[in-house]
Amino acid sequence: MTAPVRTSPNPLKAKDRMKLPRQHMPEQPPLLRATNFKEVNLGYSEELARQEALRCLECAKPTCIDNCPVGVKVTEFVNLIVAGDYLGAAAKIREDNVLPAITGRVCPQEDHCEGHCLMAKKVEPLGIGYLERFVADYEQRHLDLSNLPKAVPTGKRVAIVGSGPSGLTAAGDLVQKGHQVTVFEALHELGGVLVYGIPEFRLPKQIIREQIDYMRAMGVQFETDVVVGKTVTINELVEEEGYHAVFIGTGAGAPQFMGIPGEHLNGVYSANEFLTRINLMHAYEFPNYDQPIVDFRGRDVAVIGGGNTALDAIRSALRLGARKAYVLYRRSEAEMPARAEEVKHAKQEGIEFHMLTAPVEFLSDDKGWLSSARCIRMELGEPDASGRRRPVPIEGSEFDLPLAVAVIAIGTSANPLIQSTTPGLKTNKRNYIDADAMTQRTSRKGVFAGGDIVTGSATVILAMGAGRRAAKSIHEYLTTGEW
Ligand SMILES: Cc1cc2nc3c(=O)[nH]c(=O)nc-3n(C[C@H](O)[C@H](O)[C@H](O)COP(=O)(O)OP(=O)(O)OC[C@H]3O[C@@H](n4cnc5c(N)ncnc54)[C@H](O)[C@@H]3O)c2cc1C
Repeated sequence: MTAPVRTSPNPLKAKDRMKLPRQHMPEQPPLLRATNFKEVNLGYSEELARQEALRCLECAKPTCIDNCPVGVKVTEFVNLIVAGDYLGAAAKIREDNVLPAITGRVCPQEDHCEGHCLMAKKVEPLGIGYLERFVADYEQRHLDLSNLPKAVPTGKRVAIVGSGPSGLTAAGDLVQKGHQVTVFEALHELGGVLVYGIPEFRLPKQIIREQIDYMRAMGVQFETDVVVGKTVTINELVEEEGYHAVFIGTGAGAPQFMGIPGEHLNGVYSANEFLTRINLMHAYEFPNYDQPIVDFRGRDVAVIGGGNTALDAIRSALRLGARKAYVLYRRSEAEMPARAEEVKHAKQEGIEFHMLTAPVEFLSDDKGWLSSARCIRMELGEPDASGRRRPVPIEGSEFDLPLAVAVIAIGTSANPLIQSTTPGLKTNKRNYIDADAMTQRTSRKGVFAGGDIVTGSATVILAMGAGRRAAKSIHEYLTTGEW
């Protein structure tokens, strides 16, 4: 048998593609953007997108696809860009990813597709995230949502609890199979962390609304202000409201603290509260909205932690007028879990990084407000359970850092309500829901779970991967009745 002939719209030979430089993403200048909440990255033009798409080597075994948790067909969508068929490229991405404008902006591509791009062995990897964002934004400007194809209704109803990326992905995949899908969200805004955690300058709220409008046009129904476990229980959804299956994607939004003296002081926030005040309570739109947070102008702020949450919090504080904005992280930069692009952007904006540094106590003025953090320097010892080198305090290295505001961003834990109101739903000792890693089935028949509420805090694309696997298993369960 002869191998199928691969046709490509790309006229360049592989060696010439390798010579093309990665196209730079236009962005707001650092000193300007540090004073506003407008998006940092401005997006590719058509010209830049096609130039970048021409770099793809069209590998016979594309490791970028194998390493995408939702399996986006990178080579195919990139070739459609080369051919100038941007709506075709968007449709190709949407076969596997219902939130392309979001993943194109916040996915840690360096850990997935781009991190496994063959080009990266010699030159910079293909800008897969930037290209995904380009086609998603192009689609938004040009697609007529009234004409989306609809699947034949199956008569089966699925309840999705939580409107974060896991729930939205499960909803999008299931509605395309013809199931009637309703998403129940506790908050008044849809999107989960995408809307209450990630700030406007990285992921504009309008982009999330547009992606959700697209899902509405596909047929997904949304109900906000419904706290499942209080307003209605999982049992009631199944037994009284007639849902045939339920997906739980409630996330890990409960804050964690350090347990050090002075954490109760005025001016010390959890990152969840801090970012919710900025995003959902509109602090980022000051002075159009009353400021629901302390006035940072001319004052010094520090965040404790090294993940995306920490960087989002401190870059928001800078934009709200902080005089000095510090990141205090107990390990070194190599261990920081934040996206590489965010670290680069934060440094350009003037955020000061104090690596191998951790607070041991918060000190106050005579009115109970934070006045400084007593910090200690660390050195790295042997690797710990996470595989990263353990930070070890250096005796006698304490120093005081004057501060008006400190934000604790050292991680989160499971949202607990559903676990305590759903009999027979098994959890692990940290109260995350037990779900099969392949099928996302829980211990309750007809109930599936995925995303951060199963794995603990992770990433948008991993939550989406879980939503996809759950949708596949829910569809199998609804069509075969087998558990
Ligand atoms: C500030 C911040 C920045 C981040 N930046 C990035 C990034 O750049 N890239 C990246 O890949 N990842 C990032 N992450 C991680 C990523 O956002 C999460 O891993 C992802 O959102 C998890 O998705 P999820 O669907 O599991 O849950 P969530 O996004 O947490 O959504 C859960 C939803 O369920 C709702 N809910 C909870 N309980 C109930 C209930 N009882 N009834 C009804 N609804 C309920 C919640 O209100 C919420 O809307 C970031 C996280 C934070 C906090």
